[in-house]
Amino acid sequence: MANWLLDKNIDFKNYYTDDRSHIKKATRVKNTIRKIKSKVDDLIRLGLIRKVGETKESKGTDMVSLFQFVPFTYLLLANVRSRSPEPEQSAYWIEQAYNIYQEILTADNAPTINVYYARLYKKLWEHGIFVECVLDPINEALMSDKEIKHVKELFYIVKTRSDDAEKAKLYHSLRNEALKELEPDARQRVLLLMKQDIEHNIISRARSLKYYEEALLRSKESPESLAVEGYCEQCKTYVAAVVNTMEYLDAISSLPEEPIIMICPTCGKDSLLIPKISY
Ligand SMILES: [Zn+2]
Repeated sequence: MANWLLDKNIDFKNYYTDDRSHIKKATRVKNTIRKIKSKVDDLIRLGLIRKVGETKESKGTDMVSLFQFVPFTYLLLANVRSRSPEPEQSAYWIEQAYNIYQEILTADNAPTINVYYARLYKKLWEHGIFVECVLDPINEALMSDKEIKHVKELFYIVKTRSDDAEKAKLYHSLRNEALKELEPDARQRVLLLMKQDIEHNIISRARSLKYYEEALLRSKESPESLAVEGYCEQCKTYVAAVVNTMEYLDAISSLPEEPIIMICPTCGKDSLLIPKISY
């Protein structure tokens, strides 16, 4: 890598001109290795490259480490290149990014959640919202000040732009479609992971956490059930309840502004209004 940088990188090349031009190649390489060592460590820590072994130097007897990019590195590169101002270039790299995503998601021994994401991304792709739901959020994360400890943090970011109600609706309905197409066992596993995020969102808005905790305990038994909280117009208070997770997600995708109306477990009247907290 040091050799390559000294050969190709303008900064490294220019460094060894004028009064440094007498410095021998071997010394240049050593100095360069010292300079880039911590950067290479950063790339390993971030999960962008991995060490695959060691080999003897082509010239000399020292051992050098061999590194390899991981598929996600190519995905990030394709994503960066997809920002090209040339429409043809941009379209080419967007498609590359999509294909690399599918390759990673459908790899042998991938977790069940990947089966779901592969289907969801295919649907987003077919409906023309893959870039804004998947690639744009990755770029936003890269541009933000938030520290990224490992590339895996970027892998499952998928979201919809909240300022476009039609597209949000499309995204929600495609997500539900992808969920329903899963085998029952796979759906349970995916919902188990999803349920935690949905309930986490609800907890942050819960008005009566004491009762919500009890609903959480009741919903714990199955990923198909979800603890929610709403306002009962009869009891004039906040009431927690347990609903079907898939029904809740379906309700979100249609008329997100209108609350779900259900039977209040306290008074038995059809007066419990559950807000749809977008997920
Ligand atoms: Zn009530």
